[in-house]
Amino acid sequence: MASKRDDFKETTKDIMAKRVGYRCSNPSCRKPTCGASDDPNNYSNIGVAAHICAAARGGKRYDPDMSKEERRDIHNGIWLCQTCSKLIDSDDLRYTVDLLHKWKSLSEEIAILDLETASPAQFVEQDKELIRFYIQCFDRPAFRDEIRMEFSMEDFDRAIEDTIIALNTGVLRTRDGSIIKQSEGKAFVQNPDWREKLYNIVDILTAIRRRLNIAARDGSYHQHKNGSEIIYVFHDPQLEIWLNSSREEILRIMSTICKDIGVPELLFPRCRYSW
Ligand SMILES: [Zn+2]
Repeated sequence: MASKRDDFKETTKDIMAKRVGYRCSNPSCRKPTCGASDDPNNYSNIGVAAHICAAARGGKRYDPDMSKEERRDIHNGIWLCQTCSKLIDSDDLRYTVDLLHKWKSLSEEIAILDLETASPAQFVEQDKELIRFYIQCFDRPAFRDEIRMEFSMEDFDRAIEDTIIALNTGVLRTRDGSIIKQSEGKAFVQNPDWREKLYNIVDILTAIRRRLNIAARDGSYHQHKNGSEIIYVFHDPQLEIWLNSSREEILRIMSTICKDIGVPELLFPRCRYSW
């Protein structure tokens, strides 16, 4: 008997991959999924034609009402890199059918936009618009003050998280916690140099959150009251320096883009305190 998995046909997989220009359809990833291998007559493929609703009973987002044909139809597939295909199967509450369809149509749209290079001027304008939004995301205390001057490390961590979300999705969380979709994520930026820089910035932001998390767990800092002033004291001076210099580095990278589009550069910290 044939397998109980309703796998895609090879031709279906091929079209799925081509419709997104062989890139991962997770808009926050967009990793290329194929390239030259050492064998000059071959290529490496790290792309996966993933099922949106699982191919077999027991899989994630399995829909018993679907027919075998519907399950292996291109409509039920999404082209992803290996990491993202594992990611979507790790949590079907987060990676819902709706979200995956959204990813797919977004990636298909980007792929076709990539082809339409006939009007690069239009892309430059779009890019500038996106960059202006991202610059606005750095206009908050978390990118202004030295780490020991922070009021609350929890608020700082949230501000960093908000910035990552804004760069990845174009969604901005305001101070009162409400969420507004103002723009698009960094994957929409057409200029490859700017896009690369934004990906680097998100990597650094993620590293800041990770190190801060470990520091909180290990009790690597404490609050110190000095009269009416409260400051954070770090037990590891290297960590404190890194938390400052990493944000300085982010604003430095951002500033190179500011320069390109002709807006004022970002400086950290906004005012230097005397030691
Ligand atoms: Zn991916």
